Amino acid sequence: MKTVTIVGGGPSGLFLAILLRQRLPSVRVDVIEQNPADATFGFGVVLADTGLSRLRQADPAVCADLEAAMVFNGGQTIILGDTPIQVQRPGKGGGAIPRIRLLGILQDHARRHGVNVRFDARVEDIDALQADLIVGADGVNSRVRATNEAGFGTTVSQLTNHFAWFGVGRAFPEPALVFRPWRGGYFVAHYYPYSATMSTFVAECDHRTWEDLGMQAMTPEARQALFEAVFAPELQGDPLISNHSQWRQFPVIRNAHWHVDNRVLIGDALTSAHFSIGSGTRIAMEDAVALADALALHPNDVPAALAAYEATRGPEKAKLIDASCASYTWYEDIRTWMQRYTPHAFVYHFMTRTGRVDLERLKRQFPELVAQFAAAGALPAEAEEAR
Ligand SMILES: Cc1cc2nc3c(=O)[nH]c(=O)nc-3n(C[C@H](O)[C@H](O)[C@H](O)COP(=O)(O)OP(=O)(O)OC[C@H]3O[C@@H](n4cnc5c(N)ncnc54)[C@H](O)[C@@H]3O)c2cc1C
Repeated sequence: MKTVTIVGGGPSGLFLAILLRQRLPSVRVDVIEQNPADATFGFGVVLADTGLSRLRQADPAVCADLEAAMVFNGGQTIILGDTPIQVQRPGKGGGAIPRIRLLGILQDHARRHGVNVRFDARVEDIDALQADLIVGADGVNSRVRATNEAGFGTTVSQLTNHFAWFGVGRAFPEPALVFRPWRGGYFVAHYYPYSATMSTFVAECDHRTWEDLGMQAMTPEARQALFEAVFAPELQGDPLISNHSQWRQFPVIRNAHWHVDNRVLIGDALTSAHFSIGSGTRIAMEDAVALADALALHPNDVPAALAAYEATRGPEKAKLIDASCASYTWYEDIRTWMQRYTPHAFVYHFMTRTGRVDLERLKRQFPELVAQFAAAGALPAEAEEAR
């Protein structure tokens, strides 16, 4: 293999390029990105601290730079209605970073390793690209994937909840999740600080709320104002800041085959991970590590490398995607849970929603919180017996 072209200069594409230049220095690596170098959508993203170990192993220098730019916070407040419950996570907690800073750090490392990055260059015709390997790191609307959906076995379905990604010009003291019934609607805010002066604020509601409150017919400004009213106690007069903040329904993207001929998918182009598990960026970057490992193992046999990538990364990714699926399925029913549970029972239900965390793990990691659940009679009967 002499040449690799990566379509998309997001976290997965840039990290793959950096790793490939280190492991296979004789290979020419081109990254083609449609946006200018300093453009980004959204605000800050969370990269969990424990989740960084794979990335740290792959490239300690990149990780050191990322960690230096991250805001860590082990606490989280979960509010149902107006009742806050404090959750103190073990360890340093989730680290958040402005997406533009994350991309800037990756761009710097890519440049230093001799990656050819072309900005402001949208690829329309994938067939015109000439390279031994073409990587689709081009996100949820992947053009590489679109060239052969039948070959990749692509399925796309849409969740029903509506969401938009905003910023707030203030660093909240810690991340929070607020679930608030308001005038017959059911609303969610996920917010977290990602710098000394800014926070990310993801606004969400279920489809019935969208219909009942006439949000379909509202202007984007009116929807924003509605969320500012619902979450006035938290925002304390600060407006939501929009940055191309479009209201969307989350696309669930899966591919039965990760590669076709010399084309391969990574990151969101391959599988979209729901934002409620807060790991989409890390998962996308871990795909890059797995693909770089496989190519380094089979540098002169692209088909063997692509088969190895799917065989090794597939099973571990399936677990993460299952967790994402359990999480968004829970959010799709948010109205039911908000109506059914008291605040403590709600938080217990929330924390065990993906099936990856059970009472035993909660007791180990959050003993004081489990004691609070028990005191409030919030543990389900079978969990109570296991205590
Ligand atoms: C509301 C919301 C909140 C989120 N919160 C978090 C969070 O807290 N933590 C987290 O880890 N993740 C979060 N994510 C997910 C995260 O943003 C993605 O999972 C992650 O960015 C995926 O990386 P990627 O490199 O695969 O794709 P992307 O980041 O989408 O990058 C793809 C790149 O390809 C470029 N591109 C696309 N098409 C072309 C083309 N034809 N030619 C050239 N370039 C092209 C795009 O401009 C883009 O730069 C969130 C997502 C949403 C929607």
